[in-house]
Order: sequence, then structure tokens, then C-alpha cells
Amino acid sequence: MIKKAEAVVLKTLNHGDTSKIITLYSREVGRLKLIAKGVRSPKSKAMGLFQPTRHIQVIYYSKATSDLQLFKSGELINGFFGLEEDFDRLTLAQVMVELMDRSVEDEESHPHLFQLLVNSLSRLSNREITSAEAYWYYHTHLLRELGFRPHVGHCSICREALEEGASLGPGSPQLECVKCHQPGHDSIHVSGEVLLAVQNLLDTNWDDLEKTTLNARERRTLWDFLWQFTFHHIESSRGMKSLKVLRQLYG
Ligand SMILES: [Zn+2]
Repeated sequence: MIKKAEAVVLKTLNHGDTSKIITLYSREVGRLKLIAKGVRSPKSKAMGLFQPTRHIQVIYYSKATSDLQLFKSGELINGFFGLEEDFDRLTLAQVMVELMDRSVEDEESHPHLFQLLVNSLSRLSNREITSAEAYWYYHTHLLRELGFRPHVGHCSICREALEEGASLGPGSPQLECVKCHQPGHDSIHVSGEVLLAVQNLLDTNWDDLEKTTLNARERRTLWDFLWQFTFHHIESSRGMKSLKVLRQLYG
């Protein structure tokens, strides 16, 4: 059966002498794997479509019994070319698509998640807001869409308000207050200001997003918190390749 999908390229892998296997995140069917035959030959017009982060439309042959479908043709919707002029933004966009790839199952449609990815790449590419804020918005809303919203308002054990900040550790997948938390060597403490910034990111619409008032140390804590929390809930995110580059930028 011939199908059409609107999608973002998550990753590509060379296959044989001239082909590629493309992993996409689509509005219609969620994560989708296509084999594009002959696409690496000099004559192919489709090669430029398959860079990770590209927003494209594809036509493909679909077989219900296969988890690898056959690419027929495609066209570019948005290349987000603004990303290519800025190493930080390009790195963050690569983290966005790799995190999506690690977070979702094949062929499970989630149109809100697709829209979040497209909007986030677009904001990051248009440079309307600072790059870290655009990234944080994406990451916190992705967690929420996947059912892992961080509860920053109260302790997960005693339910008391977390005004004094909170801790997260190897044995604590949700935030705990200072009294309840059993500190381990990997525990991190997150101040009340950082928790409030996470809450604001979650409660704000894209159009109203502004730069947070956090200082440099608090911004680093926000990064640490996001990843520690994500490692707990999305196990496969631990092995992400783009994280190494991200750590060099913000570590
Ligand atoms: Zn507590």
C-alpha cells in the first residue's frame, strides 16, 4: 500500500553501497523506518532530504508485516537552515532528535509529540529565544507528553511543599525533600529557584516563553536535573551520543 507521511529525520545509517536506512518521527504513525535504495548514488535527488533534523514529506510503500518500509519519493518542508550557522543550536537540535529517537516506540502515533518536535526545531532555528530555553522547553514538555512530568511542587514521599529545594538520587526517581532524601554519592540538590523555573517551563505556552532569571550555577543545575531525571525514566537516553557534545557546551 502507498502511504504519505510528514516527518522529521531522526537518524540515518548507510546500507550496502548506495542505500540508506532512515529513521523518522512522523505525525501519522510515530517512529517509522524506511529503506531508501540508491539514494547515495550521485544521480539521486533525495540525498539532501535525509539529514537529521530535516522536516520532510515522504511517500513510501508500506507492508504491515515489515518494520522496514520502502521509500518512494520525498520533498523538503523545512530544512531549519538557521541551525547550521550556530554550533550550539545545531548541537541542541541533534540532542532533540536523538532524545526523541530513544523515547518512542516504532509506529505509535502521538501527534502532540510530533508538533512539539517541529515547533521546537523551528524556534531553535529562528533564534527568537535563547537556545537553552528553547531546548529546556522541548525537554520538559517531551517528558510530560510521555507521562513523566517532573513533580516539582511537593516531596514524593511526605508530600510537603518543596520551597527549600529538593533532591534527586540513584534511588529516588522523583524529587524528595531534604528531610526524606537518603543522600547517595550521585544525589543532586535542586534549589527552589530551579524548581520554579522548571514549573514555569511546563506551565508556559511557546509564545510566552522568556529567558529565565537563573544565574550560571543554577542553569547548570537545571541541566543536571533534566538529565538525571530523564535517565531514571527513559533508560536508553543514558547512551546518547550527542550528550557528549552537549556536556562540553554546558557541563
Ligand atoms: Zn519529604
